[in-house]
Amino acid sequence: MVLMSGVQPASVIRQSCTKRSGEYEKSYGRRPALAVVLVGDNPSSRSYVRTKRRACEQVGIDHRDFFLDSSISQEALLELVAGLNADDSVDGILVQLPLPPGIDERLVIDSIDPAKDVDGFTPVNMGNLLIGNPCLAPCTPAGILEMIDYYSIRTEGKSICIIGRSNIVGKPLAAMLMQRNRNATVTVCHSQTPDLRRHTLNADIIISAVGHPSLVDADMVSPGAVVIDVGITRVEDPAAEKGFRWVGDCDFDALSLKCSAITPVPGGVGPMTIAMLMSNTVKAAFARRAE
Ligand code: NAD
Repeated sequence: MVLMSGVQPASVIRQSCTKRSGEYEKSYGRRPALAVVLVGDNPSSRSYVRTKRRACEQVGIDHRDFFLDSSISQEALLELVAGLNADDSVDGILVQLPLPPGIDERLVIDSIDPAKDVDGFTPVNMGNLLIGNPCLAPCTPAGILEMIDYYSIRTEGKSICIIGRSNIVGKPLAAMLMQRNRNATVTVCHSQTPDLRRHTLNADIIISAVGHPSLVDADMVSPGAVVIDVGITRVEDPAAEKGFRWVGDCDFDALSLKCSAITPVPGGVGPMTIAMLMSNTVKAAFARRAE
């Protein structure tokens, strides 16, 4: 059984980003720059933003934080994004989700210049992704593909069951895996799928992105399957030092006895997502110069 840690492949991607951001600075006299907009004080979002800042510092990307009060109006937020779109010294814009109630998330995301959309969430990038055109691809699905390549897992002709149909993971991942360069046969399951097990048992590769601990147990997986666990949920655990721990969607201990490869949680897909954000920021910086 192969333990598919995300730590090593993420480190390879970060090294490449460090080299490329150094080259960018040499050529253009400044580092690539990422603007991160955080509205409100959701503790998970704050922690994600801190992690992203640390990653930027490591690879030589300038990181500009915009911490806004949750009372900010939609108009003021759209104005801030418009300012970042117009600011030539900003290469990437990331609006940390979720946004507070009363702000139309879709409207805000859609207002980001697609050339600076390092999360790959705008309709232009999503549309290009679906067609198979070059684009800024969403970081988690892109990170999963990098991980699949790093561990030499073939997708050609394989049945892949994705659990979860969100715009940030399930849908773009399905689009990427069905392209001609991946040639997988993809099934997307979701909350309204009857008999999930019927689909997972048929799959060579299962990718779960739901956020329900223990959703996927050993009875749902064929021997030798590959399991990629995107889900990450905080569960209370008085025995843990902090009183909680992070778990995925899959019953790791039971599945690891049955599958040929599995990702850990934490330390699996998570580090890949951050690495791909760095990669997209450097890519966006160079692409804007080439326009
Ligand atoms: P989401 O809430 O937007 O989507 C969850 C999906 O799960 C939905 O499409 C829903 O239909 C499906 N679902 C719900 N219950 C189900 C069930 N019983 N059976 C089958 N499908 C079911 O979530 P998201 O933003 O895509 O995130 C999913 C999980 O992945 C979360 O735990 C999130 O924290 C995690 N995540 C991790 C990373 C990372 O980098 N590791 C990145 C993004 C999301």
